Amino acid sequence: MSGLLTEAEFESIAGSIVLPSNAFINGKFMAAKSGKTTPTINPATGKVITEIAACQSEDVDFAVRKAREAFDSGVWSRMHPTDRKHVMIKLVKLMKRHRHELAVLESIDSGKPIVDCVEIDIPETMHCLAWHAEVADKLYDKVSPSGDDALGLIVREPIGVVACVLPWNFPLMMVGWKLGPALAVGNSVIIKPASQTNMSALKLAELSIEAGIPPGVLTVVTGDGSVAGKALGMHPDVNAISFTGSTVVGKRFLEYSAQSNLKRIVLELGGKNPCVVLDDAENLDYVAEHVARAVFWNMGQNCSSNSRLIVQKGIKDTLLEKVIEKTKDWRTGYPLNPANKLGSMVSKEHFDKVMHYIDIGKKEGASLIVGGEAIENGNGVYIAPTIFDGVSRDMTIAREEIFGPVLAVIEVESAAEALSVANDTEYGLQASLFTSNVNRAHRMARELQAGTVTVNCYGEGDITTPFGGYKQSGFGGRDNSLLAHDQYCETKTIWYDLSDNFIDADLS
Ligand code: NDP
Repeated sequence: MSGLLTEAEFESIAGSIVLPSNAFINGKFMAAKSGKTTPTINPATGKVITEIAACQSEDVDFAVRKAREAFDSGVWSRMHPTDRKHVMIKLVKLMKRHRHELAVLESIDSGKPIVDCVEIDIPETMHCLAWHAEVADKLYDKVSPSGDDALGLIVREPIGVVACVLPWNFPLMMVGWKLGPALAVGNSVIIKPASQTNMSALKLAELSIEAGIPPGVLTVVTGDGSVAGKALGMHPDVNAISFTGSTVVGKRFLEYSAQSNLKRIVLELGGKNPCVVLDDAENLDYVAEHVARAVFWNMGQNCSSNSRLIVQKGIKDTLLEKVIEKTKDWRTGYPLNPANKLGSMVSKEHFDKVMHYIDIGKKEGASLIVGGEAIENGNGVYIAPTIFDGVSRDMTIAREEIFGPVLAVIEVESAAEALSVANDTEYGLQASLFTSNVNRAHRMARELQAGTVTVNCYGEGDITTPFGGYKQSGFGGRDNSLLAHDQYCETKTIWYDLSDNFIDADLS
């Protein structure tokens, strides 16, 4: 998708957009019944840009009731899959028409660089929704291998009312990852965006009316996680929660489920992902480019960020020199300037958290070799890409998810030690491996405890491959690919006994 405008043009769009502020329930925008709102701050400038409805449990109750009514009516859940596909594709076309507006909303809400919003977040969300729309009328159910005397149908049915509680790091893309498969199979979906980043989801909701998604089928409930998020988690009439965010809050959803109706819980959580570079890796310039991208992209606010570089001694110094050089490419600054590859952190609170980790790294004796400081830019919250060398596996910055542009470099003697350090974490979302030895690549890819292992590149696969974590990085399912639909379906067995004697009796 083309569309990089100039900074002035993006500013002009930002200045002319009517910023969304109300929740979207039953096909209409509405304030919270209490009238409460919370401010939204552009973290790149520190300015309050709008007030967003702070939904309470009464608003959540209303939203769930309307979602349930829509589901039970069959207006979407029993719509022919081909018709559902067409409606979803129309939504994607409308997104394409409004892509600049969506990109600018995403950027001013989250501090993300506009270049990423235009070239990655918005097009990938559209691709994701279109892909799942196309799946809607191509998913087949199954017949069991039960012999001639029986017919066992194994059919999928939409689970019902699905609530998606979302993070702020990829606001619209995470909507796409959840909404695409959940809508394609016929559910009513309630989105609860992160408090910092509501606007692109609300804009999508506006477009959904024109696309023809019936009222109640797509809902956006805004508001605080501990209020609106919890109310969804505890609600007796929500059938499934799909959550992306911190491991701490993810675990709460398991408690909510246990305390309410045993709703299905699917969690995509944090990571402390390793990038393992062995001394037979080829083309260290290329490796360095991937190492830098893996940790700095999106200001490191990425669950699959490779925040640990585990590198074999023989090539460490050469690689590190190249990584330091590549770091210069990650120009940090005002997000609406398309020349900047990195923008601001999402909030002052998160900025403080990351800076605190940088302090801990220094205090625990790691050697700060790049960055480590805030970048002054008005009231925005920017952090320079940062590299610590001399990190040991037990240091805090090697163990805890920082969620910032901070790389911890850990030197190892051997491939076996690299593997041991890589797996020495409570997380298991993603791992990258660089080696030219194909046997070793296969073996280590199997041994790395992560939901996705990329070999000789950094990445997450694509829409056709499942994404989710081992250990405390995930629970209950996978985003993306055809497996994503299973998260939002019940499985039903319909059994016919074909061996009836009465048929024989009738014939005689
Ligand atoms: P959270 O896990 O707190 O937030 C994720 C979502 O959960 C938000 O919509 C949030 O709402 C909601 N939520 C928060 N508390 C509750 C609750 N008690 N009950 C129900 N819902 C709740 O992430 P943070 O924004 O606080 O980020 C903290 C850390 O989490 C980051 O530093 C990072 O380490 C990790 N993280 C991981 C992500 C990933 O992609 N796996 C994404 C984001 C963060 P609200 O925003 O209103 O609080």
